[in-house]
Amino acid sequence: MTLDREFTMTICGEPARGDLEPLLVVDPATEQVIASAPRAGRGQLDLAVQGARDAQPAWAATPVAERKNVVRQLAGRITEHADELATLLTQEQGKPRTNARTEVVRAAQWIRSLADLEIDDVVVVDDADRVVTVRRVPLGVVGAIVPWNFPVSLALWKVGPALLTGNTIVLKPSPNTPLTGLVLGELARDVVPAGALSVVTGGDELGPWMTAHPGIDKIAFTGSTETGKRVMASAAQHLARVTLELGGNDPAIVMPDVDVAATAEKLFWACFNNSSQYCLATKRLYVHDEIFEEFAHHLARVAADVRIGNGMDEGVQLGPLQNRRQYEVVQDFIAESRERGDEFLVEVPVDHDAGYFVGPVVVGRPPEDSRLVTEEPFGPIVPMLSFTDVDDVVARANDSRYGLGASVWSADYARAEEIARRLGSGVVWVNEVQVLSPFFPMGGHRQSGIGRENGVEGLLEYTNTQSLSVRKGPASAPRQAAARAALR
Ligand code: NAD
Repeated sequence: MTLDREFTMTICGEPARGDLEPLLVVDPATEQVIASAPRAGRGQLDLAVQGARDAQPAWAATPVAERKNVVRQLAGRITEHADELATLLTQEQGKPRTNARTEVVRAAQWIRSLADLEIDDVVVVDDADRVVTVRRVPLGVVGAIVPWNFPVSLALWKVGPALLTGNTIVLKPSPNTPLTGLVLGELARDVVPAGALSVVTGGDELGPWMTAHPGIDKIAFTGSTETGKRVMASAAQHLARVTLELGGNDPAIVMPDVDVAATAEKLFWACFNNSSQYCLATKRLYVHDEIFEEFAHHLARVAADVRIGNGMDEGVQLGPLQNRRQYEVVQDFIAESRERGDEFLVEVPVDHDAGYFVGPVVVGRPPEDSRLVTEEPFGPIVPMLSFTDVDDVVARANDSRYGLGASVWSADYARAEEIARRLGSGVVWVNEVQVLSPFFPMGGHRQSGIGRENGVEGLLEYTNTQSLSVRKGPASAPRQAAARAALR
């Protein structure tokens, strides 16, 4: 055990050890156990949910300006502890320390920005008889379930909106990366009212317990499409609301008029940043036939200089995959391509004794119906395909069960925008990629998800509408008079 401290859950504002055998947390760069994390029993989840239910009416009645202040204070606490959180994030997740720090600082800034958004009541009728107001009221208790690729930002993307809109929340980090989520809970203890934010960690049993829990009104989930379907089926038993942010298979369409060297470099990082463990990573490169060879050459040039290693080491740009299962999934994709005799346009060997390291791989023109093109490897292997006709490439880009993000690259950005408008995904970029903001929604088309995070649309996902119809004047006065007359 290298981390000399205890990590506890936060249940109703209090530290809590797990009732079950602890989880062991492995550093993916060394494969060493670095810490243990609590494994919640079912009774502890019940306590957290009940605490959230008890705290919710008072939290919802707290003026919105005060709720915003609490969220800003939480952001402040996180920023103050950014170094500690970043180190922990690298140790449990594997990403380079500078990227980890960026994730933490940006996530804190993100909820600060979300606190600047307003949700207003809308008066839709105001005549001589009545005034009707469409209000946005909280749902109640939110259960947030988070994956292991961006454990801090994806947790705060749920905590911030839930609290701002007057809900209380129980957060469940991934069993692979529980530590940063537990520390977020610790930091919130003296900022957020007891019960309004609990953090519980556990094994594979805890997520299903949450989605089936009748005390939870909404599940905010980020994870794989397969798990998302299970979450939705389970939540349907008590009609809990769901937001599902799921997998992606983002295409990038590269037109022949681009600056090939510059575009290849940008798309290299779009493919491989966070060792490709990113829902919005570019996962299919469609490069015009005219520049195919030159583009591949520049990808290989960028790959040759990449520093892969332990994220704690200075200058490292790509860390290991986060866990052994994911490492094996990616190895299977690589083996399949090799057996098929695909051309490896880029392959970066990694010299290591331990750790789940895989260097970037770009495979040239694998079959369009291969798993590598149709599925999400969620690791550093990317197919590079060619096209000559725009209608054809648009059809191929859209021919996916996923629809999360997409990008189009051309010197003629008006022409690129025309192509972008034909792509079926929740976010489409022209001559840039992976640009997100607290102020516009992101989410999936098709099987990439349901609902949105970020922007006003994202906040509204944490509310019910209530149409409040108020009749002006005393209740049904004419009918009462008629009834009195009938009794006489
Ligand atoms: P995962 O689906 O295996 O797990 C996600 C979370 O769900 C974890 O906390 C896990 O413990 C929990 N879980 C697992 N089974 C559950 C069940 N039956 N009921 C309830 N909860 C359950 O995903 P992962 O492997 O941690 O993350 C990778 C996936 O997440 C990729 O597919 C990626 O594209 C996707 N992702 C999507 C977004 C997005 O915003 N769309 C962002 C990041 C990651």
